[in-house]
Amino acid sequence: MTNVALVAGGGIAGAVAAIALQRAGWQPRLLESRPEGVADERGAFLTVAVNGLTALRALDLDPARLLAAGFATPTLAMANGAGRRLALLPLGGPTPDGTVTTTIRRADLYAAMRAVVAERGIPIEYDRRLTDYTERADGVTATFADGSTASGDLLVGADGLRSRTREILNPDGPAPTYLGLLNTGGFTDRPVEADLDRTPGLMHMAFGRRAFFGWAPAPDGSVWWFANPPSKQPVRPADFTPASWRAHLIDLFADDDLPAAAIIRATDVAIGPWNTDDLRRVPTWRSTRVVLAGDAAHAVAPSSGQGASMAIEDAVVLGRCVTERPGDLPGALAAYEQTRRARVEKVVAVGRRNGSGKTAGPIGAAIRDAMLPLVMKMAFRKGNPQAWILDHRV
Ligand SMILES: Cc1cc2nc3c(=O)[nH]c(=O)nc-3n(C[C@H](O)[C@H](O)[C@H](O)COP(=O)(O)OP(=O)(O)OC[C@H]3O[C@@H](n4cnc5c(N)ncnc54)[C@H](O)[C@@H]3O)c2cc1C
Repeated sequence: MTNVALVAGGGIAGAVAAIALQRAGWQPRLLESRPEGVADERGAFLTVAVNGLTALRALDLDPARLLAAGFATPTLAMANGAGRRLALLPLGGPTPDGTVTTTIRRADLYAAMRAVVAERGIPIEYDRRLTDYTERADGVTATFADGSTASGDLLVGADGLRSRTREILNPDGPAPTYLGLLNTGGFTDRPVEADLDRTPGLMHMAFGRRAFFGWAPAPDGSVWWFANPPSKQPVRPADFTPASWRAHLIDLFADDDLPAAAIIRATDVAIGPWNTDDLRRVPTWRSTRVVLAGDAAHAVAPSSGQGASMAIEDAVVLGRCVTERPGDLPGALAAYEQTRRARVEKVVAVGRRNGSGKTAGPIGAAIRDAMLPLVMKMAFRKGNPQAWILDHRV
């Protein structure tokens, strides 16, 4: 008899876990809380690092096909608010098979992943918000917001940063921690009144005097951008209208010698703002028949550029552990946690450090601008200090 896996959450971890579990001989069901076709816009776009993309190959997935709607961004150009280049850093790739860190709209990535899930005959059920589950010796039953239930042999909690599965497994927390930064972004194909470096493959990021800014030239001539305005308190969507938020951003970058204000002026809608959070150590990742994956287990700060890749790596490792231990689910889940926990917690710590540099005051900024080129030169003397993240193979 085939084992049934309930996968709660049809995001990155959930889609890849469903594919991995099917390869391991399980019968997965992907259960997503949102209605079909309602895109998640958080972050507008994602830069998916080469380590996550390479991990997809373990499932016979071709990253180039999955991320066909995106474009290569293997290099990061860092600048200060005066527009002075501070460093040129590798973001990942190309690997021997040609894979590079790639930037893609979130909605396009989710759609491509769900298309593969559907192609492989895995059912995707929408409007299925997990609210509870009960675990018995012989199975697990999930309950959904509409009162319906589903039963299986394993429940994968891939339900994201605010995971309900995590809350049930860890009744005393932890909850996500707000990092003091907002996130917003957008796209423009209108003329930008600034001199833009449109070198293909470059992701530009800059420490503006009052906020952090990033942008990339897309191959179709449009510009994709994001900003991280600092804010002591998290915001609610009702705090701004689209017009007041856009005006606020233009003002934030008005004093910088960066193309930021011009890019935002050329953009009709600045999407967001969203609060950025990460998650401190989650004590319990698993029980006998329930396991967490992706942001549900370990949300890394967006500035690490590793959230999607960590979710993919988790899902691939979960599939491998289940394959290697047929008939021993608790052993497989323990091996999964043992393989993943130390690595993701190290990446979370790096992400938090990177994010804190975005909110320096004027004195801190002057020190950073003076030191960064030197620090980078030293750090790269013996190779890329991020190699343990980017070159990792699951
Ligand atoms: C602003 C922002 C920018 C980011 N930029 C980057 C980046 O550039 N690069 C990068 O690698 N990462 C980035 N990240 C992080 C990245 O988005 C996440 O790490 C990644 O999406 C994690 O995948 P996941 O599948 O675990 O969670 P998600 O992608 O969030 O998917 C969770 C899914 O579960 C569903 N769900 C939620 N609750 C339930 C429930 N109770 N029942 C059923 N389904 C449920 C949700 O609707 C969603 O579809 C960014 C994050 C943010 C917020």
